[in-house]
Amino acid sequence: MKVQTLIAGGGLAGLSCARELSDASRSYLLVEKQKEAGGLCRSVIDKGFSFDYTGHFLHFHKPAMRQWASRFIGKIFKERRRHAVIYSQGGYSEYPYQENNAGLPSATNRENVLGYLEAALHQRFGKKINDSQNFKSWCLDSVGPGISKNFMFPYNQKLWKFPLDQMTTHWMGRFVPSPKIKEVVDGALSKKTSDSGYNATFLYPDSGGISLLPQGIAKGLSSLWRGAGIQKVDLKKRRAWLDSGFEIDYEFLVSSLPLNQLVECTEGLPIKLRASAKQLKATSIYNINFGLKGQQPIPYSWVYFPENEFQFHRAGSVSACVPTVAPKGHFSLYVEFSYRGTKPNPAQLGRHAIQKLKQLGWIDSEKQIVSRVDLDLPHSYVIYDRYRDEVTAELLRFYEKNGVQSVGRYGRWEYGSMESAMEQGIQAAQGILTGSNVHKK
Ligand SMILES: Cc1cc2nc3c(=O)[nH]c(=O)nc-3n(C[C@H](O)[C@H](O)[C@H](O)COP(=O)(O)OP(=O)(O)OC[C@H]3O[C@@H](n4cnc5c(N)ncnc54)[C@H](O)[C@@H]3O)c2cc1C
Repeated sequence: MKVQTLIAGGGLAGLSCARELSDASRSYLLVEKQKEAGGLCRSVIDKGFSFDYTGHFLHFHKPAMRQWASRFIGKIFKERRRHAVIYSQGGYSEYPYQENNAGLPSATNRENVLGYLEAALHQRFGKKINDSQNFKSWCLDSVGPGISKNFMFPYNQKLWKFPLDQMTTHWMGRFVPSPKIKEVVDGALSKKTSDSGYNATFLYPDSGGISLLPQGIAKGLSSLWRGAGIQKVDLKKRRAWLDSGFEIDYEFLVSSLPLNQLVECTEGLPIKLRASAKQLKATSIYNINFGLKGQQPIPYSWVYFPENEFQFHRAGSVSACVPTVAPKGHFSLYVEFSYRGTKPNPAQLGRHAIQKLKQLGWIDSEKQIVSRVDLDLPHSYVIYDRYRDEVTAELLRFYEKNGVQSVGRYGRWEYGSMESAMEQGIQAAQGILTGSNVHKK
């Protein structure tokens, strides 16, 4: 079979690319390994609860992207307000931690604010915070030793499972808020709900979960093969093979496969590139979702847990902000554990989650649980160590020269959002439509 554009992977990036090409009446074929498209943005419906592949909240940074997506989300996605907090030293303080010390014991509040002010003074009088710092030293220099010790270090160590002094800061961007002195001082004096950060409000449907977004984009796409995984790609011949052995000749390949998996299935890749791709690292997430009988116990969309007593780094409740994701008289909770390497034992994680949710007073008894859905998300968070930027850049350059645009969160091997995945899919299609940025055979 011959197509002009072969799109590998039917997550948001692949689907958005297919949507653009389809709207322009261009030949394409999208192949998705799973039986359902959507990638990370799928939802599981069980006993009347909808659960996402862990918390997935849609927010737009760019008006043009919101406009593009509006035809797929229409009025079904409604604006909701985030209520995120941190559970630390036996109490809840508002997110972001660095700006909201009032909920903490007074000694911690003092330690955090003094450290922050010292760091701010050092910066004012000459200490430069720069791009080449490692994440650990960036924390000390920008938020000070107190906030680093009490939140930034333990939380990030638990999430990343990677030495913080071997991570760069290039992933942070808008994801790690940097408050002003006034905000830190105000937040130390009185408790307030904060709108800081990139996602104070978000869009979400009443029911059906986040999967309604990819389903909306996919609607009417005629060339979408599900259950069709790419097994091998020959860049010289511009030919791909599916797991079934089926051959597809293409002119352009848009791949949203994880970059390291694209490398694995590429024939004729220079040995040096194959070797350096081994340096790409990521942290995985094991997500347990519970559907429970009873009244909504907490008002929080999500809660960060820096302390080691909790094996999970984050837990939350989508029903706290969207009650209709659970049947009447019920609510939902989710818990996220990160891991690297061997997958953890689900039974042990489940026992730990239930014990801690009881201790927190979020549930009274296991008997309340009417649904449990476990979801494994391999390579969830790309690790930005000293190799990541260079290896990714050289692989992307190589693929681009060979007619492949590698897009999406894992295609670019980055810390991206739903918005950026859609945008990259659209841009790849536009490159093909306008003939720019694509290398012809
Ligand atoms: C824990 C977590 C929480 C997140 N929360 C949010 C949030 O709240 N808000 C937000 O905006 N973003 C969030 N994101 C980011 C968001 O999920 C992603 O940016 C986006 O979904 C990525 O889409 P994608 O198409 O790039 O990748 P994916 O969704 O990974 O899609 C890639 C597709 O390729 C398919 N595939 C893989 N191998 C093959 C093969 N060999 N052949 C064919 N197909 C293949 C996969 O099955 C998959 O469907 C979160 C991410 C994580 C990990």
